[in-house]
Amino acid sequence: MKYERIEKAVFLERPNRFIAYAMINGKKETIHVKNTGRCAELLIPGAVIYVQESGNPARKTKWDLIAVEKGERLINMDSQIPNQVVREWIEQGNFAPDVTLIRPETIYGSSRFDLYVEAGDRKIFIEVKGVTLEEDGVCRFPDAPSDRAVKHLEELIRAGKEGYETCVFFVVQMKGVRYFTPNTDTHPAFAETLVKAAAAGVKILAYDCKVEADSIRIADPVDVVLGSPRLKEAAEPLVKWFREKKRDLPWRKRMNAYRVWISEIMLQQTRVEAVKPYYERFLEELPDVKALAEVPEERLLKLWEGLGYYCRARNLKKAAQQIMDEYEGHFPETYEEIHSLKGIGNYTAGAISSFVYNIPKPAVDGNVLRVVTRLLADPEDITKAQVKKKIEGLIEEIIPREAAGDFNQSLIELGAIVCLPNGEPKCGECPVSHLCLACEQGRQKDYPVRKKAKPRRIEKRTIFIFCDSRAVAIQKRPDSGLLAGMYEFPGVEGYLSQDEAVEYAKSLGLAPVRIRSLGKAKHIFSHVEWHMTGYEILVDELEKSIPENMIFSERDELEEKYPMPSAFAPYLKAAGMEKNCLKRKYDRAAAVKSEAKR
Ligand code: SF4
Repeated sequence: MKYERIEKAVFLERPNRFIAYAMINGKKETIHVKNTGRCAELLIPGAVIYVQESGNPARKTKWDLIAVEKGERLINMDSQIPNQVVREWIEQGNFAPDVTLIRPETIYGSSRFDLYVEAGDRKIFIEVKGVTLEEDGVCRFPDAPSDRAVKHLEELIRAGKEGYETCVFFVVQMKGVRYFTPNTDTHPAFAETLVKAAAAGVKILAYDCKVEADSIRIADPVDVVLGSPRLKEAAEPLVKWFREKKRDLPWRKRMNAYRVWISEIMLQQTRVEAVKPYYERFLEELPDVKALAEVPEERLLKLWEGLGYYCRARNLKKAAQQIMDEYEGHFPETYEEIHSLKGIGNYTAGAISSFVYNIPKPAVDGNVLRVVTRLLADPEDITKAQVKKKIEGLIEEIIPREAAGDFNQSLIELGAIVCLPNGEPKCGECPVSHLCLACEQGRQKDYPVRKKAKPRRIEKRTIFIFCDSRAVAIQKRPDSGLLAGMYEFPGVEGYLSQDEAVEYAKSLGLAPVRIRSLGKAKHIFSHVEWHMTGYEILVDELEKSIPENMIFSERDELEEKYPMPSAFAPYLKAAGMEKNCLKRKYDRAAAVKSEAKR
């Protein structure tokens, strides 16, 4: 869009919304201000402006204000131009290739929309908004309350329900801005309605413009932030911090989808330091999808032993088989395909697709929920699914396209080593403390808000280690339910006294020789707590008398062959059978390595 008869001038003052005075060619002139918005940050006495001489000699006010210089930036402030430049842009085929009709000022309901467009079968209402308000590269709309703008949005929502495509097109009348966001300061109702409109399917577009003193045209898309500008501001410092400070972790080396996947499943509910040896052992034995798909289940559970949540290990194998069957053994590369694998939810799909393929999808775990709710002082209960979904939406909107993986990892890393869950977060070391509302209010410990969990069910149990000098009795747990398919020491509900324990052994057909109390122990699952008491019972001729449902296991076999949950670890230790094959294996591996070095 080209202007004619443009003159450079100096702004003097604006006595009312419609006119201003300017010095043009050494003479004080009255100029017409088409943009009736406040524009207070633009129209400062002494500002360089560009005015257009009217082509109509009969007009009383001869000049129109077109553009103003603000620092290095030239901002077009002609409020009548956005509709024209959008129309020009659509005519050039930028909106749709098959446009057959563009009609301005089309009435719908009680509103008049700026443009009505037909393209193929599509019927589209477009409402155009010019944006001139800019601060530190962030542009916002409106710069003054506008009930009319709210009404337009509501009508667009209604049109959408009646089958039209609908769109709000923000024309940012300048170049080089960082992002667009609705102005919650001047008109919160507009911001709320815009969010509602987006959720209802109204497309929200923002484009900047190439502006010259005598021309303007639509240039490039601008990021739209409807959710949290604060989070948007945090993205860059977080990525920079992560790149400088990230921990050296095994799964960050030679990163690929398989390695990230295994580590992320292991890290659910387990600390990084605890996961490291498991991870290395697992990768050593099952280095790729094929090996995992083919591993016998008992071996898999053995490798997983101690990490808990054994269904996760089973799901890993099922997903690996799925990858072999459906993707010829190649790990899928889209978010949707990754998400479709067994046992992979939003978090893991987001982690794999962003860390490995830089796909801008969120990966929201407990660390991220903590960091984000503190940054935003968000008072909502994070145990609610819709709150997590909301935070995923906030992140997805602002995730940097060029650094999606590093951004997601920065939030997770910050939660793990700076924005700590228990005790004081290390706000002094936090790269986004200047943006953090919880920190500003001194209320870090109030976030995240979490409704009190239901108390866990307590189950009292008596555990028996029936043994002789070389073996112990174990049994397999049922194929479904808690610790499905794992091995355990026999046990009964409730606490038995020593005499009762001996009687129980006899009732199984065993011949107890000696009994020793192993004391009490507790194991906490997510919804249940086992409160246990244990006995070691030395049995005469255990192998001959062992009940049918039990397995006579050599002590070494117990270590190497049968996956046993860590709930029983205290009794292994108490009975002098410390079952830490992981540690032993690593001690052995370390010895082999140091021999090799020598
Ligand atoms: S300033 Fe403190 S509370 Fe806020 S995000 Fe950083 S570490 Fe967490």
